[in-house]
Amino acid sequence: MGLIAIDLDGTLINNQHEISTENINAIKQAQAQGHTVVIGTGRAYFDVQEIFKKTHLSLYIIGANGATAHSPSGTPILSVPMPDEDSERIATWLEANNIYYEVFCEHAIYTLDGSQDILFQEVKDLEHHVSKEEFQFINMHLKKQLSQSGYAFMNSFEEIFQAQEKIYNILAYSFINQKRLAGVDAFKDEKDLTLVTSSPFNFELEHKEASKGNALTYLAKVLNLDLDQSLAIGDSENDISMFKVVSNSFAMDNASEDVKKHAKYVTSSNDENGVAKAIYQFITD
Ligand code: CA
Repeated sequence: MGLIAIDLDGTLINNQHEISTENINAIKQAQAQGHTVVIGTGRAYFDVQEIFKKTHLSLYIIGANGATAHSPSGTPILSVPMPDEDSERIATWLEANNIYYEVFCEHAIYTLDGSQDILFQEVKDLEHHVSKEEFQFINMHLKKQLSQSGYAFMNSFEEIFQAQEKIYNILAYSFINQKRLAGVDAFKDEKDLTLVTSSPFNFELEHKEASKGNALTYLAKVLNLDLDQSLAIGDSENDISMFKVVSNSFAMDNASEDVKKHAKYVTSSNDENGVAKAIYQFITD
C-alpha cells in the first residue's frame, strides 16, 4: 500500500474556497481501501486543521511546504526549521524593499502590524492598469491570502524573533511583478535555503532540506509505505518535488504547462473535482 498526497489550494480546494463532497467521498473511499491520505501544502498546520474541522476526515498533514508533518491525531512527525540568521536577513531585506511577508511558526503566522496595507496599496495602484478580469483575479488571491487562520501581529521582526518559536518559512507576497522578481533574484541562489512558489504572487523561503517531496519520502519511511505505489496530486511549482518521488502523479488541468510537464498524468481542474477523478483512477487501476 502507498500514500495519496494531495495539495490544497488550486487542487483539493475549488475556486469557491470549498472542498467538494465528491472530493471528500473519494478520500474516504481510498482510506476504506487501506490507502493513507496525506495533505501536502504550503499552509501552516493550524490553518489546515481549521480547514478540515468540519469534514471529519482523518489525515496526515505536511505543512509549510514540507517543513512540518503531523499525524491525524496531531503528533509532530517532522520539523525542519530555518536557521535563525537566515530568517532575520530575509526579513530585513523584504522590509527594506517594502515587500509584505509572513513568518510561519509553530503556533502562529506572524506578520508586522499594518504591513497588510502594503498589499491594499498595491491593489489600489493596479486597479486602473489591469483588465477587469485581472483585477478580480488579484482580489480573489488577496482575499485567499488574508483568510488564513492563526495570524499574530507584531511590531517588528525582533519581536517575532523574541517569541522564540521555530521559524518554518517566510512567505513574501506582492502583486507587483518587479518587486516579486527582485526578491526571487535576491534569494534564488542561497545555498542553505530553498525558494518555492505556491501562488502567482508569492515566493517562499525555507530550509534547503524542507520540501513537500522530502517530507513525503520521510513519511513513507516512517509509516513503512511504498512510494512506488503512491500518488501525488498538485497544481503548483511546489508540488513538483512530490511528483518526483512517487510512481503516479497527476497535475491539475488548471496547473501551468511547466507543472503538467513534470506529472505523469493530467486530471480535471480544481473546479471539476480533479482530485476525485485522479483518486478513482489510481485506486481502481
Ligand atoms: Ca497549490
